[in-house]
Amino acid sequence: MDLIDVTSEFGTNEKCLAYLEALRWPDGVECTECGSKRVSKIARHKEGKNKRSVVYQCLNPKCKAQFSATSGTLFNDSHLPLTKWFLAVALMCNAKKGISAKQMQRDLHVSYKTAWYLCHRIRKAMEEGELPKFTGTVEVDETYVGGRYDRRRKREPWEKQGVMGFVERGGRVEAYPIPTPSTTVLVGKIKDRISTDAELVVTDQYIGYKAVEKTHRHAVINHIREWVRGQIHTNTIENFWSLFKRGLIGSFHKVSAKHLPRYLAEFTYRFNRREEEGIFMMTLVRLLSTIALPYKMVIAEES
Ligand SMILES: [Zn+2]
Repeated sequence: MDLIDVTSEFGTNEKCLAYLEALRWPDGVECTECGSKRVSKIARHKEGKNKRSVVYQCLNPKCKAQFSATSGTLFNDSHLPLTKWFLAVALMCNAKKGISAKQMQRDLHVSYKTAWYLCHRIRKAMEEGELPKFTGTVEVDETYVGGRYDRRRKREPWEKQGVMGFVERGGRVEAYPIPTPSTTVLVGKIKDRISTDAELVVTDQYIGYKAVEKTHRHAVINHIREWVRGQIHTNTIENFWSLFKRGLIGSFHKVSAKHLPRYLAEFTYRFNRREEEGIFMMTLVRLLSTIALPYKMVIAEES
């Protein structure tokens, strides 16, 4: 679903609403208050503030609630037309290197505040819950971001924010901020994320990974001498790092350590679904299940 598809298929709020309705109730409309399937449809002529063009009336005499496909979701609380929400989702799903709020502001013709809120909410919807441990061949590597180069101070890598990444061959990538690249941190995280029965853990020769061999099948690629030895390489995770770093430099300029987990969530989400057709739809489904949170509370949540 690229921008042209979204513009032509979801050019009106009615079309967006019909799509959300099908996503929310694949087995037919249900009352959002009591779950009854006995509902009647009311079409409205005019769409006012927070008023959808199609609403439903629950026919359960004890309930009688009126609702729409967006009731109780964040779409309902926002004054932004659904068409702009749909475009924002498409922009974020398609931007391999991410998209800044400034860019979103220009593309959607909205205020900076609105663009920021949109980016933030969509990024939050991209966060994964608890994931199972890796069991296959897993590349593990760490990288360092942020801490803009300062000529007077000559920042060293350890003054930057460390990020540790895992990628399973033929599987997903995961990335986490780390306080320091010490053995305790690195090996602890490996134990936490990779099953001891996993096929193989591949790292570079960095001393911090030495102890992995005590708990896992461990292969080391020595980057001083070689980059690939058959299946022994860390190229997949390095591809992810380069995409992530180009995104950080190109679109975001400076990401504070506080916001790093959310950006990592966004980049891993997109990377893990880069070959899937349904990423646009999946993201909308996630947004539908995100409860409404007013702007003021989003700001509070941030600080
Ligand atoms: Zn009801």
